[in-house]
Amino acid sequence: MSRTNGPDRTIAHCPSCGSIYAAERGPDGTIEPIGISNGCPCGHTDFVEAEVELETEFDEPEVLDDSA
Ligand SMILES: [Zn+2]
Repeated sequence: MSRTNGPDRTIAHCPSCGSIYAAERGPDGTIEPIGISNGCPCGHTDFVEAEVELETEFDEPEVLDDSA
């Protein structure tokens, strides 16, 4: 079961202006938005991967009151 046929599709998120782009995840983990070669139109070029499927099952951090 080898899946080395091309990069994974993912979602890139510009942390500067909040734009979302379809992107590919390179083998080294870089996020490269598809269709924009010069970075985000806002001037930002460092994208982060956005969560494709937003999980709503976040474990709420319990506040442990250690005073007892
Ligand atoms: Zn941007």
